[in-house]
Amino acid sequence: MTVAAPTRLRVPYVIAHEHEVAPQPLWFGRGPRGGVRLAYDVPRRGDVVRGVLRVRVLTTRRGAPQWRKLNTLRQWRCMEKLRCQVCGKAATDPDTGRIPWIMTDTAFREISGDSTGGLTSAPPTCWACIPEALATCPQLRISSTVCTVARAQPVAVLADMFTPGPVRRAIPTGEHSVEISLKDEMVLSYALATQLIVQVHDLQPATQD
Ligand SMILES: [Zn+2]
Repeated sequence: MTVAAPTRLRVPYVIAHEHEVAPQPLWFGRGPRGGVRLAYDVPRRGDVVRGVLRVRVLTTRRGAPQWRKLNTLRQWRCMEKLRCQVCGKAATDPDTGRIPWIMTDTAFREISGDSTGGLTSAPPTCWACIPEALATCPQLRISSTVCTVARAQPVAVLADMFTPGPVRRAIPTGEHSVEISLKDEMVLSYALATQLIVQVHDLQPATQD
């Protein structure tokens, strides 16, 4: 069952819309060092970013919001440019230079050897949008902490996995949202990235001023 969201709710910048789906004709071309590599039938500039094939989506924001799905291009932009996931504007606090970030149990993970950071697939949220995000997002109401971070760098992707079939057509393996390091060239050759994951540094609970 899907629960209809109230119509007055602002649709966050990062949320996917129904009519932003684009065709994904995929096959396995020749990869570096003699292997195979997932590719679009007709390649376009911008298909491969940070060494991984990225899912093609439109950014028209047309059609019904898909409340449980993120638009890949806007999620990517939020992560790389540190934009707010709700309003799409710069998230960094101009006074402190720190980035406000709502961390949830589901989208944040600690990593060994980094006691003050971790990995997340959820983009930052600017101070102005944090009250709205906490009030309206069911996920954030369950478990979330408002934090700030000093900086963030892309380190991995979430991806759907494919395997070569007859005449090198790409067959989905059925694995979705598989986390793959940007250093793992071999596995990335079989992956269609849907979200960018960043490592955040100097993560601190936000202080109430
Ligand atoms: Zn905002």
